[in-house]
Amino acid sequence: MVYDGSGNPPVQTDVAINKNKIVKVGDLSSAKAKRVIDASGLAVAPGFIDLHAHLDPLLNLPSAESAIRQGVTTSLGGPDGSSPWPIGSYLDKADSIGMTMNVAFLVGHNTIRRNIMKLENRAPTDEELTAMKAQVEQGMKDGAYGISTGLKYLPGAFSKVDEVIALSKVASQYNGIYTSHLREEGIGLLEAVYEAIEIGREANIPIVLTHHKAIGTKMWGGSVKTLAMVDSARKLGIDVMMDQYPYNASYTGIGVLIPSWSMAGGTPEFKKRLDNPVLRDSIKRGIVHNILYDRGGADLNRVQFALVEWKKDLEGRTLHDWLVERNMETSVENGAELVIEAQLNGGASCVYFAMDDADVERIMKHPQTMIASDGRLVEPGDGHPHPRWYGTFPRVLGVYSREKKVIPLEVAIQKMTMMPADRLGLKERGRLKENTFADIVVFNPETVADKSTFQNPHQYPVGIDFVMVNGVLAVDAGEFVDARSGVVLRKGKQ
Ligand SMILES: [Zn+2]
Repeated sequence: MVYDGSGNPPVQTDVAINKNKIVKVGDLSSAKAKRVIDASGLAVAPGFIDLHAHLDPLLNLPSAESAIRQGVTTSLGGPDGSSPWPIGSYLDKADSIGMTMNVAFLVGHNTIRRNIMKLENRAPTDEELTAMKAQVEQGMKDGAYGISTGLKYLPGAFSKVDEVIALSKVASQYNGIYTSHLREEGIGLLEAVYEAIEIGREANIPIVLTHHKAIGTKMWGGSVKTLAMVDSARKLGIDVMMDQYPYNASYTGIGVLIPSWSMAGGTPEFKKRLDNPVLRDSIKRGIVHNILYDRGGADLNRVQFALVEWKKDLEGRTLHDWLVERNMETSVENGAELVIEAQLNGGASCVYFAMDDADVERIMKHPQTMIASDGRLVEPGDGHPHPRWYGTFPRVLGVYSREKKVIPLEVAIQKMTMMPADRLGLKERGRLKENTFADIVVFNPETVADKSTFQNPHQYPVGIDFVMVNGVLAVDAGEFVDARSGVVLRKGKQ
């Protein structure tokens, strides 16, 4: 059954590939081929395009097995305001190593702000803004597909909307997109969505609200309002879309629980502020607030350590567990103390169980929502990652489409293929038709499933039998092949 990526129901037919292109879709019963794959009973779809990928380990993991085995054939790196720099030489290096999936990148606002202003909590001078604009321009000329922000993270949190608009205008001149990890995803979510829409309108740039969600019990149900905001913005002609991963827990550094003002200037300044009893009290109150009303989910059991370089035995355990180990009372205040301690030890990555399934499903159903993993390339055994790193795409197909019937299969595929391809301006990918690149995934719609869990994350999905990148198989009859047939995509250059 061939799904073309458009959201139309599938058609039972044949697909012919020659070199890196799809050359025929139709009846090929009398044709001959060097190799024939019998896809009876299987779904044949365009390869999935991941609009939010943490590709940082790419040069060490060019095989990208954790993505490929989900059916992903193209990934967009540089999300959340954080990108390689300079982008041009990074892309050249990726080219010389050889990639198994296609990769593309965004320019990261936080990366550029840090280049020019370090971790300073203030607006840029005219000179600094000019220098940042020049770097955005350089990144776009080097082939970036747009600009990403991470306004919750440092140093993006120190920027005001005017700065982001000015930089996004530069990306817009090169037909880039604006994708944003919003300033807030808990209390403050609505204002943050408004800000992103305002940036898109003022800079005249297509918007993606990335990993869209409502964090913290107080905001549960908030997606009713955010989706209405998206709808009314679109009615006004503002081009706003979203992407989403299919889980009710998020994953990020433990510093997300700490007020950003307290970390301005970096760790030495953070330490100095902690030495001041009044400031320390304010910092702690901020963390308590975030545990109660934001990513902490109002329960120390909802913050689970994932990657802890300085205390490996914490990985997979929670803030609550750590207090018990220390024989400390399991109060939110004590939890806040350990958050400070963890940050001073060098930080940690954590999983935060602070979302409601009703919001996850509501967002998924929205016609402007795409699927993206927010996953980091990973190898089995490396830390205790969020299962989305291994399971995002098969989970949508298996759990949300087949089991929960939240969206039909052809719509799920559209959200993974043609929609993100169009967002990036990739007219020859993300669709299964003649004369497009042969990025193809073949899976069993009855059995496709994610296997990675929060308890046992290092597990590849099942039911994805073939993955082809530019006409070469990277998964062949369920076996991974490090094919290196991917290309480094540079906007405007191919
Ligand atoms: Zn993010």
